[in-house]
Amino acid sequence: MNEDLRKNIRQIAPYTAGERPDRPGIVKLNTNENPYPPSPGVIEAFRSLAPEDFRLYPDAESTDFRRAAAKFYGLAENQVFPANGSDDALALIFLTFFNSGKPVLFPDVTYSFYPVWSRFFGVPFETAPLDADFRINPSDYSRENGGVVLANPNAPTGVALGPDEIRYILDKNPGVIVALDEAYIDFGGISAVPLLREYDNLIIVHTFSKYRSLAGMRLACALGSAELIACLGAAKNSYNSYPISRAGQCIAAAAFADDAYYRACAARIALTREKFVGDMAKLGFRTLPSAANFVFTAHEKMKAKEIFLYLKEKDIYVRHWDLPRIGNHLRITVGTEEQMEKVVTTIKEFPEVNKNHHRKIGAKTHE
Ligand SMILES: *Cc1c(COP(=O)(O)O)cnc(C)c1O
Repeated sequence: MNEDLRKNIRQIAPYTAGERPDRPGIVKLNTNENPYPPSPGVIEAFRSLAPEDFRLYPDAESTDFRRAAAKFYGLAENQVFPANGSDDALALIFLTFFNSGKPVLFPDVTYSFYPVWSRFFGVPFETAPLDADFRINPSDYSRENGGVVLANPNAPTGVALGPDEIRYILDKNPGVIVALDEAYIDFGGISAVPLLREYDNLIIVHTFSKYRSLAGMRLACALGSAELIACLGAAKNSYNSYPISRAGQCIAAAAFADDAYYRACAARIALTREKFVGDMAKLGFRTLPSAANFVFTAHEKMKAKEIFLYLKEKDIYVRHWDLPRIGNHLRITVGTEEQMEKVVTTIKEFPEVNKNHHRKIGAKTHE
């Protein structure tokens, strides 16, 4: 590429998602996908799709989607903004709501897409450090700012804030938008959706990728006051006027109707998670209290990167970031019971873990 050409092109460092290895037999626990299939109603909705659903443009208002979401959340239809995955909704939120020129606040350890959007859209930002236990300190969000973005439960820690802490942050920020990314809320957190009745500065994003097992469909929604949702719609229609696909609208409506199925899957995942945390503790791993479908864990002696590379060699993919503060942690998605047992037995066979483990047990017997 010649220099003139290069000068005309925007160079950016994008967000990098977890690897997507595509070989049979791989245990893929690196992007927090749900190990269980979508609900029976979703499969039926998928089978009911006709060629017309592909030939024709979708309903620009996403009426069926909005109606189903409004009913599910107890909101009005104009309080729902359908999106192509929550990354789509969150990007639009950065673009639409953070225009004061003041820095937007989010934690130093959080979804690594937030700083990427900030830079991409020219939104100044400041990060507030999580405390030593990787918890968000609500009072960090009471200083002057241009908006607040929080993942609740936080990623990649899995640690959740309670409703009182959320309320505190909303009360301290009446003049700016507080965006809550509740991607994992249904695995053990308490949603702030009921607070929408009281707070007009609150916007909440829910994805269908985790709890509803639909990562491949790219579906999500933003929820807020009718006024905020109209602003998002205006921004969206300024660059891409069609919403989610016809197939997506049909499938999303079916997913809302099948919540009992998804609740059962989430309960099973929570049980698997607690068993896994216990098994890992016996191997010397300390895991943060997780309200999500993943855990954030560190071994007392072994380097996370070495365990990460060892697991990868054994075709088990988890997530590791070579970054300050979190470089010695692994983020492991909670899959099926079988998958998690495989992680545990594989780590047990890791010579280094074994060595440390025996040494520790040996030390105890001499006490
Ligand atoms: C997975 C994830 C998303 C992205 O979800 P999509 O709807 O698949 O785009 C957003 N925020 C957090 C915190 C996530 O972990």
